[in-house]
Amino acid sequence: MTKYKHIFFDIDNTLWDFKANSDLTQHEMYKQFGLDEFFSGAEEFISIYHEYNDELWEDYRKGRIEKSKLKWYRFYLSLKEKFVENERLARELDDFYLTESPKKTGLIPGAIDLLEELKKRYSLHVITNGFNEVQYTKLDNSNLRVYFKTVVTSEDAGIMKPDPAIFEFALEKAGAKKEESIMVGDVLGVDILGARNAGIDQIYLAPNGHRHNEEISFQVSRLEEILEIL
Ligand SMILES: [Mg+2]
Repeated sequence: MTKYKHIFFDIDNTLWDFKANSDLTQHEMYKQFGLDEFFSGAEEFISIYHEYNDELWEDYRKGRIEKSKLKWYRFYLSLKEKFVENERLARELDDFYLTESPKKTGLIPGAIDLLEELKKRYSLHVITNGFNEVQYTKLDNSNLRVYFKTVVTSEDAGIMKPDPAIFEFALEKAGAKKEESIMVGDVLGVDILGARNAGIDQIYLAPNGHRHNEEISFQVSRLEEILEIL
């Protein structure tokens, strides 16, 4: 028995293999839209995209860019890197990406086994930064939705992790007390420190064994290790 009753999960790269699913979609996109006309290979396209995507997400988190612009603008800037200024194509790429990527079903190894085991003993919930339509499609298509009593997206909450307010919003929705809750996530500064600052224990999933100086509750490198804690 542990003191916990509620387990809150991040989705992307904690349960749902965002990187694999995104790469797969972008390889499809590369072929379908004939992007080899502009780039030397799908890998080049993907790496340029990630640079801009990360940058724009940072801007979005800081309130410097709207969601509606971020979506197509990351593709626009990727194309512009190759001297192609084509907003229409950028918007088409974005539509394809947002429609196809969430339908992918690649999961982090051990995800289903872990949830099957934990659901017997705990109430499971989601706290995710992301757009509603995208995150719910992922949960449904990869058969994850059934495990969770409540799902909170940053869009629902009107605020993003690591802001403690989204954790408080999620606790309230789940009817959970912070002392009996724990958060599982893969980004130290977002999932883990955010939960810590909201007074919630944390399990940091760091597949590459990240070394840091933060005081956190638990750190694991694989999902199955969580069963040794819970
Ligand atoms: Mg994540």
